Formats: sequence, structure tokens, C-alpha cells
Amino acid sequence: MNLKKILKEKFNHTSFRIGQQEIIEDILSGQDVIALLPTGGGKSLCYQLPAQILNGSVLIISPLVALMEDQVLQLKKMGEKRVIALNSFLSYEKKRKIMPSLHKYKYIFASPEILQSKFLINRLKGIHFSLFVVDEAHCISQWGHDFRPDYSRLGSIREFLGSPPCLALTATATKEVFEDIKGTLKLTNPKMHIHSIDRPNIAIAVKKVNSIEDKKEELLKYVKELQGPGIIYFSSRVLAENTAQFLKDQGFERVAFYHGGMEQEKRMLIQEQFIHNQLSIICCTNAFGMGVNKPDIRFVIHFHYPSQMESYLQEIGRAGRDGKPSAAILLFHEMDHEIPEVLIKYELPTKEQTQLVVEYINQEIKDKGKFLYTKTVEEYFLTVFSVSEVQWRFIQYYLSLDEIVQTQVEMKTSINIVGEAARKRYVYKFNKLKMMENWIKSQRCRREEILAYFDEQIEKKPSSCCDRCEIDWDMYKRKCNEGNEWKPPSWRQELHRIFHRNG
Ligand code: ADP
Ligand code: MG
Repeated sequence: MNLKKILKEKFNHTSFRIGQQEIIEDILSGQDVIALLPTGGGKSLCYQLPAQILNGSVLIISPLVALMEDQVLQLKKMGEKRVIALNSFLSYEKKRKIMPSLHKYKYIFASPEILQSKFLINRLKGIHFSLFVVDEAHCISQWGHDFRPDYSRLGSIREFLGSPPCLALTATATKEVFEDIKGTLKLTNPKMHIHSIDRPNIAIAVKKVNSIEDKKEELLKYVKELQGPGIIYFSSRVLAENTAQFLKDQGFERVAFYHGGMEQEKRMLIQEQFIHNQLSIICCTNAFGMGVNKPDIRFVIHFHYPSQMESYLQEIGRAGRDGKPSAAILLFHEMDHEIPEVLIKYELPTKEQTQLVVEYINQEIKDKGKFLYTKTVEEYFLTVFSVSEVQWRFIQYYLSLDEIVQTQVEMKTSINIVGEAARKRYVYKFNKLKMMENWIKSQRCRREEILAYFDEQIEKKPSSCCDRCEIDWDMYKRKCNEGNEWKPPSWRQELHRIFHRNG
């Protein structure tokens, strides 16, 4: 079979990128594959191309709605109509309409959460899947960035669907995460395609500052000097907003903020404007980035550092996907450790929260003979008990609170189970944070240390490498002054453009 021909005709690419062809060949021969390619390395093609050749449908599990929508859009742009995304945004009406003809879709995207629906999974069972893809497969690991228990059930789901060949894709995984991926997806002898995570076109610098005020000044200096567009990461929504305003006050017009507390429409708008160069700087939390397929991001600045190296690598990896020189700069202040420490704690439930949940469940069983888990109950916990979504997922998972509970839950045992699990997770996350901090404070080559963290040895350092080696800053500086040529369209116009572009 001439893969290059399909690559050209269907995808309009002239050659395969590193790893792609070998991965595709293994998939076509029916093997399970685990592949690690760097961010922007072209992982999607590894299932998109085989799907064109294989009979049947391809199921792609993707962790984020934005990511899914981006993939759907890309395929549609190629002229592929047989593509559908199953997620919480799909209206009831649409769902009802497509269900009977689901098997006609070539590419079926689904979130791990929606796959928990018994109705859907039974419907999917009747479909012949030639490939089961898990994108961003590091989320599977119990030690992933977030606590996503629905990922841990993907192995059973794959089995239920008749164990179709599996492709697990990731850009960040340590040895232990690979083991988790293999175990969870029940892959006995997968072909491993591990490629370098290094992105030689990204120069890496850490800049220590003496005070928070200095940090803002330092940021301003970089933003003035560096060639955009760029992303600035914050751990606090308020600071992301304030800094966007600060930059505007300093004369930068095409700046916006983005975080998870904003309405979905507004977030989509900001993302679209950034992708289409109507905005040049985004001040954001880690809610921004996944699914932002923009090749020419020239810098990523961390105003706060993330709580682990895996996240850091993902975030800086959004720069320079076109292969051109790009810069990753981390601004560091001695007191910065406080924020991630608080964030790690906030992810875990307290003893009081577990107690409240158990009391509620037991009362329900007493009153009604059973506890029925519904969205409304979840909302009640979230608002009335001030349990965050992550905390709730944690309690739910460790107390095995599925759809229905009929026997009284033992209070002391529950508190112990959840408490012990929370303690373990805290220690683990805290160690990860310390590794991130050790990296920041280390005197050795930044790149070498990142690679070492992922069990990789550096082969060749780029000439513009990192602040510990050497950086040719001229390569990243603004070549011409950005004018104020762009006049923002009204919100109404923009929304109209976004929502009606596909007819
Ligand atoms: P990631 O590995 O981060 O998932 P994507 O699959 O989103 O990366 O691909 C990033 C970009 O690279 C996309 O715009 C895609 O079209 C492009 N790309 C993928 N494979 C090739 C190729 N062989 N030649 C040129 N561009 C490619
Ligand atoms: Mg991807």
C-alpha cells in the first residue's frame, strides 16, 4: 500500500514526520501501539491516516471538548463528513438523531466521561471498530496531572467493545506512566514507539526576580522585546485578568485573558481571535492551550510555574510548532511555591467534606431506601457543601459511588479510605512539585534536565539552548514594531462568524 500517496492526496503533506510512518504501519498490521511524539509532532495523523484505509470506524477518546472540536474541524476541512464528537455539548435532539446511524461515522470522538453512559456504550457495541485511540493517554495514569477516574475505566470499555486494536498517544510520559497505560488498557504486548520529547527550536530560560513588582516589570520587558504572538501562564485567574489589564494600560492593545471561570462562548471567542492573529497575547491559566493548534506561537512565559514537569513541558510545547525559533521563559520568585502547594491541597477532599457526603447519602437511604446519584445531587454537593469538582470526583471514586447506593455507608471506614488515598496523592504530588522546583533552581542545562526527567539522554544541544548554556536573544526579538492596525470587530459580529462558519 502506498502510504505516501494517501498522505499527499488526503492530507496534502509531502512527507511523514519522525515516527509517523512506522506507527501507521504497525497499526495497519493490527498491533497495539503506544506512541510518544513531542507536542506538535503530528500524533493525530497516526490514526487519521489508518482510518482512511481500515474497514469500520475509529473511536477516539479525547480528554477535552476543545481538543475534540479542533480535531473534528480539521477533518471536516479535509472534506471528511463522516465525523462526529460525542460530548456534553451535543444537544439531546442531535444525539437522538445521530444514534441510529452512528455506525456510518468513520471517526467517532468521545470523552471518557460520556463513555460511562450505559446507553451509549451499548449502542457502540454494535459498531465494528478497527481502532481504539486514546489521545493524551498520560491522563490514564492514576498519577496524571488531574484526577480523571473515568480514564481508568477505558480498559474495560475497550474489552466490552471486543478489544479492537489500540493506539495510545502522548507527548509526556515517564516510565511509570507507560506502565499505567499498558495496564489500564490491558495491552499485553504493545509496540512502543518512543521518540524524543525534545523541542530544539524552543530556548528555555528561568529568570529569578526579587519581588512580585519586579516580576511584572520583568514580564513587561519581555513582552515589549519578544516577537509575538505569545502565551503568558498564571496560576491565578485574578492575576491573569489583572495582568492583561496592566499590559493594556502599557499600550498593548491585542491582549486578552482566558480562564476556566469564563463563559464557554467568551472562551471560544478569545481562542479564535488568538488563532486568527486578532489577539497577540493571552494571559491565561492552564485552561488555555489544549486544542489550540496554532503553529506560530513565538513565546510562552510562565508568570507562575506549574506543579509538575509534565505540565511545564506540555505548556512550553505550544510554542514554535512551525519549527521556528521560539522562547520559553519562566519568571521565578522565592515565594512562588505557596500557590502550587495550596492548589494541590485544594484538589483533595477534607475529612469534613467526606463526612458531609456520607451523612447525606445515609440520610437519603434512610428516607427513600436508596441513594440515587444524579447531576442534581452532584450540583448540590458542589454548591451547598463547597466541594470542588475534583474533590467530588475523588470521593466518588474512592467510595465507589456509582449510580445507586442501597446500603448505609460506614462513616469511619469511608473517612479512612478517602483520607488515606488523599494522603498518598498529596505526598506524590508534593514530590512532583519539589522536582519542578529543583529543576528551576538547578545550575545544570535546562534541556538536559528535562530530558533526564523523562529518562532520555540529550544527543545534541541546539546552539541557542537555555539560560544555563547559551541563548542568542536576538533570534527571539521583535523584528518590526507591531502597529495598531487591527480594529476589533464587535462581539456580535465575531460570535456570528464563529457559529455560522460551517453553514
Ligand atoms: P500533536 O502531536 O501535538 O497531536 P497534531 O497531530 O495536532 O500534533 O499536528 C500538529 C500539526 O502538524 C497539524 O497542523 C498537522 O496538520 C501537522 N502535521 C502532521 N503531520 C504532518 C506531516 N507529515 N507533514 C506536515 N505537517 C504535518
Ligand atoms: Mg494531539
